[in-house]
Amino acid sequence: MDLLQHLLPSQNDLSLNSCHLDEINGQLTVELSSSHFVAECPLCHCRSHRLHSHYDRTLKDMPLAQFTLVIRLVVGKFFCLNENCRRKIFSERLPSVTTPWARRTTRYTHKLKAIGLALGGAAAARLSHQLGYGCSRDSFLRLLAGLTLPEAPVPISAGSG
Ligand SMILES: [Zn+2]
Repeated sequence: MDLLQHLLPSQNDLSLNSCHLDEINGQLTVELSSSHFVAECPLCHCRSHRLHSHYDRTLKDMPLAQFTLVIRLVVGKFFCLNENCRRKIFSERLPSVTTPWARRTTRYTHKLKAIGLALGGAAAARLSHQLGYGCSRDSFLRLLAGLTLPEAPVPISAGSG
């Protein structure tokens, strides 16, 4: 269990509850929970310790050896303590692990973007299947379409005319 804890996306934010190795389907499922007891409201940035409930997220992570790694993550929902805030209940954010609504870990998404940028949609999909990343051509194209372009340098005129 200790070694596995070191391979997870964030050792400081997550606690390892259990793991299950499905050798037939080549999948390792780890159940993690947030190790935080306080969370910050994403709207007003007020910190809260009043827990409302928990909810589960399922995230695909980078493959581990020959196994697909699936993370079942339990995070908290907290009451916002700021009376003037429009958000009464909010979900805990774990930016070191994933972004809101994402179905992948951030580190896995970064690897896929790097593969997609280097190879493009179809070639990236072929390589990702060989590496165990298992991402389709369409998923690569969606990932690449979501990237922001770097700012282009402003051309400098040669003469004052
Ligand atoms: Zn708030």
